[in-house]
Amino acid sequence: MIASPARANTRDLVVIGCSAGGVEALPRVLQQLPEDLMAAVFIVQHLAPTGDRYLVGILSRACRLRVAWAEQGGRITYGSVIVAPPDLHMMFTDEHVSLTKAARENHARPSIDKLFRSAAAVHGSRVIGVLLTGMLDDGVAGLRAIREAGGIVIVQDPAGAAFPDLPARALLARDPVVWQVIVATGPWSSQLEGIPHELRPPVRPVKGEVLRLRVPEAYRPALRHVVRATARGFSVYLVPRPGGELVVGATSSELGYDTRVLAGGVFTLLRDARTVLPITDELEFVETIAGLRPATPDNAPILGPSGLDRLLWATGHYRNGVLLTPITAQLLADTVRTGGLPDLGKPFLGSRFEHAGH
Ligand SMILES: Cc1cc2nc3c(=O)[nH]c(=O)nc-3n(C[C@H](O)[C@H](O)[C@H](O)COP(=O)(O)OP(=O)(O)OC[C@H]3O[C@@H](n4cnc5c(N)ncnc54)[C@H](O)[C@@H]3O)c2cc1C
Repeated sequence: MIASPARANTRDLVVIGCSAGGVEALPRVLQQLPEDLMAAVFIVQHLAPTGDRYLVGILSRACRLRVAWAEQGGRITYGSVIVAPPDLHMMFTDEHVSLTKAARENHARPSIDKLFRSAAAVHGSRVIGVLLTGMLDDGVAGLRAIREAGGIVIVQDPAGAAFPDLPARALLARDPVVWQVIVATGPWSSQLEGIPHELRPPVRPVKGEVLRLRVPEAYRPALRHVVRATARGFSVYLVPRPGGELVVGATSSELGYDTRVLAGGVFTLLRDARTVLPITDELEFVETIAGLRPATPDNAPILGPSGLDRLLWATGHYRNGVLLTPITAQLLADTVRTGGLPDLGKPFLGSRFEHAGH
C-alpha cells in the first residue's frame, strides 16, 4: 500500500454513502474493485449508535482491499477501504481522517453529508462521491458540494436500489426540471389526442345515476347505516349522509358519454329503494345526478408507465375510484420518484391488455 500523492487531475478519493439496504449493496460494489486500486475508499453506512461491529468483517470478505474502521488521524492510503464507526462523524483534514462526536446531521451520526462536504472542501476535484440505497436525504447536499468542487458523482439507479428514496432524491436534486405527466382523465382517457391509438388505454364510460332524498328529522335516528340490498335482482344501496340526506344508487348503463338522467333510471332507483325502505315515498326529492365510471375490460385500474416517455396512467378505476385514491396517489408518487411502478401496482400495468386485442 502506498500513500496517495494527491496529484492534480487525479480522482483518487472515493467517498461512498448509504443508509437502509447498504449492508447488502456495499459488498456488491466493493467486490468489483481491483487489488491494486490507485485510490482510497471511505464509507459512511448509517448504523445504530450501539451498532454491531460486523460491517468491517462483512466488507472484508467481499473485497480484495484492506477494510478497517476509521481511526483518529488515520492517513488517506491507496488500496484501503475505511469505514466510519457507529456514532462518530468521519471527515478530512488534509491527508488525514478526523472523527468527531459533533451533533447529528440529518438525524445521523455518522452523517454522509458531513463526509461528502469535507471531502469536497479539502480535496475538491480528487473526489468521486457515490450515493447508494437508503431513505430520506442524507448525502444529497454533500453530493452537490462534491460536484460544485469539481469532483464527480455517481448515484445508484433507484430502480435497482433496495431503498430507492435516497438515490431518487439525489437525482431529483441534480435535475429538478425532470417532469412526468400523469394522465387521470377517467372515462376520457381513451380519447386523448396526440397519443398513438395503440397506446391509448382501453377505458370506456359506464353511466351511473344516483338520487338524493331528504330524510325528515323524525326518521333520521333510524337511518344511520349504509344499506346494500338486492331488489328484483338489481343491487341498490342507500347511504345516509350528514345533514339528513339519503343517497340512493346506482344505475349502470353503457350509452357512451351521454350523462342525461333518464326517467327509467329514476324509476328503477325509486322502485328498488322503496322495496328496501317503504318510507321512501315520504322523503323529499332533492336531485338526480348522472356520472361516468371509467371501466376497463377487467374492471381493474390502469396504473403506471404508458409506453410513452414520461407519461403515466392513473385511470380505469371504474366503481372504486374514490376508494382507491390514496393507494393510487401513493403508487404514482413512488413511480415518479423512483422511475418504476412498485410491485404492488404491477398487476395494474396497462400492458396486461396488449395481447388481448384491445
Ligand atoms: C354514480 C356513481 C357512483 C359511484 N360511487 C362510488 C363509490 O361509492 N366509491 C368509489 O370509490 N367510487 C365510486 N364511483 C366511481 C368513481 O366516481 C370513479 O371511479 C372516479 O371518479 C374515477 O376518478 P378519476 O379521477 O379517474 O376520473 P374522473 O372522476 O372521471 O375525473 C376525470 C377528470 O378528467 C377531466 N378531463 C377529461 N379529459 C380531459 C382533458 N383532455 N384535459 C383535462 N381534463 C380532462 C374530466 O373533466 C374529469 O374532471 C362512482 C361513480 C358513479 C358514476
